[in-house]
Amino acid sequence: MNKIDYLRISLIDRCNFRCLYCMPEDAELSYILQQNLLEDEELLTLVRRVFIPVGFRRFRLTGGEPLIRPGVVELVRSLAAMPLVEDIALSTNGFLLADMAQDLYDAGLRRVNISLDSLNPDTYDMLIGTKGRSRWQQVWEGILAAHRVGFDPLKLNVVVIPGVNDSEVLDLASLTIERKWHVRFIEFMPIGNHQLFENSGWVPSAELRRQIRERWGLVESAVKGSGPADVFQIPGAMGTLGFISQMSECFCDRCNRMRLSADGWLRPCLLNETGQLDLKTALRTGADFAFLQEQVRQLIALKPEVNYKQRDSGTLSGSYNRTMSQIGG
Ligand code: SAM
Ligand code: SF4
Repeated sequence: MNKIDYLRISLIDRCNFRCLYCMPEDAELSYILQQNLLEDEELLTLVRRVFIPVGFRRFRLTGGEPLIRPGVVELVRSLAAMPLVEDIALSTNGFLLADMAQDLYDAGLRRVNISLDSLNPDTYDMLIGTKGRSRWQQVWEGILAAHRVGFDPLKLNVVVIPGVNDSEVLDLASLTIERKWHVRFIEFMPIGNHQLFENSGWVPSAELRRQIRERWGLVESAVKGSGPADVFQIPGAMGTLGFISQMSECFCDRCNRMRLSADGWLRPCLLNETGQLDLKTALRTGADFAFLQEQVRQLIALKPEVNYKQRDSGTLSGSYNRTMSQIGG
């Protein structure tokens, strides 16, 4: 069994964007009530008293949009200062990053993933559901600020949607040639916007690799990631290209992560809600930490079974009721 030492923590299920593939404008989303969000102190207690003792060492802050959570810089600082925490990363849409990059870095954050689905401001604004002022430039400035400040690796995430941004794959891939950036292409999943998924479909990573290989050549990267991405490189490029192929491949057997939602539910799998644990209620009702550690251990033991059931049931061709922003993608 894989060592499960990586926790994705959703700080908030709300977002300042409404990406077409994630939280479409017309979707009726129910948000977690303020009083049900884990408070900073509760989250830090869970990490210190439950997750670290059970063996978690690497943490990613995500959402919704984690940078709209008040106090996020202080939260990073507290997590980074905890003994045995080896790695803290953040996934963001980048809109608030230009102003926050330095503070986050100073607080101890070293790795950042920024969603950038298009280099074309009009396509980008359409994709993120902007009304009025364009947001592309501000996000680009956020990426440049993260680069200047020294985030390494700096990863750009692209969800490829046929007929929307699939024509930009080579332009996006070319960002890695002269910059030590890591562009990761993610297969579009039937989560969030089922209508768009049915109408447009998705592009297999193998097809993207074929296009890139034809243009520049493509080699497997010497630097292997520890996560779900297959990592390649344009020969001689400074950065890498990652392919996250959850639609065309099953990588359950490589999965090393669990997810904590913003209201404190621990989930062993993105796509399967079997075996969830309500840690917020447990914490608020005074549960014993040794008992919670044991419950998390039991969930870890269940994890391979949960994943393989997922694969065997073939649910990857089905659809899911939650959005990535609610699960903490
Ligand atoms: N707001 C942050 C961001 O956009 O990076 C963090 C949360 S977002 C839910 C995390 C990741 O999920 C993003 O890279 C986003 O592109 C991805 N995502 C959301 N909906 C998706 C879908 N239907 N298929 C594939 N990836 C999706
Ligand atoms: Fe917000 Fe990220 Fe979802 Fe876009 S992908 S709506 S930025 S949570």
